[in-house]
Amino acid sequence: DSAFANVARAPEDPILGVTVAYNKDPSPVKLNLGVGAYRTEEGKPLVLNVVRKAEQLLVNDRSRVKEYLPIVGLADFNKLSAKLILGADSPAIHGNLVTTVQCLSGTGSLRVGAEFLARHYRERTIYIPNPTWGNHTKVFTLAGLTVKTYRYYDPVTRGLNIQGLLEDLESAPTGAIVLLHACAHNPTGVDPTLQQWEQIRQMIRSKSLLPFFDSAYQGFASGSLDGDAQSVRMFVGDGGECFIAQSYAKNMGLYGERVGALSIVCRTADVASRVNSQLKLVIRPMYSNPPIHGASIVATILKDRNLYHEWTLELKAMADRIITMRKHLFDALGARGTPGDWSHIIKQIGMFTFTGLNRKQVTFMTKEYHIYMTSDGRISMAGLSSRTVPHLADAIHAAVT
Ligand code: PMP
Repeated sequence: DSAFANVARAPEDPILGVTVAYNKDPSPVKLNLGVGAYRTEEGKPLVLNVVRKAEQLLVNDRSRVKEYLPIVGLADFNKLSAKLILGADSPAIHGNLVTTVQCLSGTGSLRVGAEFLARHYRERTIYIPNPTWGNHTKVFTLAGLTVKTYRYYDPVTRGLNIQGLLEDLESAPTGAIVLLHACAHNPTGVDPTLQQWEQIRQMIRSKSLLPFFDSAYQGFASGSLDGDAQSVRMFVGDGGECFIAQSYAKNMGLYGERVGALSIVCRTADVASRVNSQLKLVIRPMYSNPPIHGASIVATILKDRNLYHEWTLELKAMADRIITMRKHLFDALGARGTPGDWSHIIKQIGMFTFTGLNRKQVTFMTKEYHIYMTSDGRISMAGLSSRTVPHLADAIHAAVT
């Protein structure tokens, strides 16, 4: 008998499991709107032109070797990543208040940050929005933190419950960690306005809470890298401390390269450098040091003016296509006279629409229309095209009537 005979079968991951089910479906009209990965109008994955160019430069450079990176990753990449999220003129960067380590995409950056907090921070409770990306709870719990939620989404208005959010932060214990989506909140597509961000900032600072930003979509929400970083910059601008986990999965299309960064903004340069020394102790026994290829691509693009400019154009084109899909879907439902208010489709921001469809309606759409999405009714707008919008609109119409 196997030594593992008692191992129970684990459930499929709620998000990645959608793709597993999709792959098994032989239907020619099947549509995967589960995973947040960008697709072209033709429904194909996209490698950015600027990424291809950077890779070519890397391949042609015979001086490049495959040696290990330092524990904290590629130095250029780390500097440029901090600059990208905080702004080139950030006083925190110029004062050496920021320590940045290269990590395994957004997920790895969150996990390294969480492991550091569990070891070195006095308060172990982290507040995450309700709802949030499903992996947050697991990442923070497994790192040894206690996860609680704060109110975020209001199903009635399909917008932000700012009152509930502020009340929940106000009653959090002093020093508690607060996870914030920097922009393009996943799964709801609902972001605070700048005024609301300011209210949140004041509450967080007045309660001495510790903000931990998850920035998985910089540039993907509005098409502007600076625009999407405004929330983070407000918090860094006030001189307080904060954590930032960055991912290049979406905005550079580097999903499988696993390239991201964790930045910790401290009050003094000395603290930042001691924090950096401890981050190394967190990383070394986990995976020793991060992979070199993806970070080299990012550094090549970020440090070259022309490549950087080209990237911003390609990024804007992706963001614009998603916004266009929102309009198409909204219009298609209007044209069908689908009952209900669907204006949230054009109001929500980023990769996803939180449709408001319930589990039963989602099951119906999968069974009858071969449309795959998470059971909370979240659809990836980046997976839609002009060709597939009518099919989706038919399915939604049938599901709600
Ligand atoms: N945070 C959020 C909110 C996300 O949506 C994602 C991607 N789905 C991530 C983090 C991390 O993704 P990755 O590890 O691929 O960068």
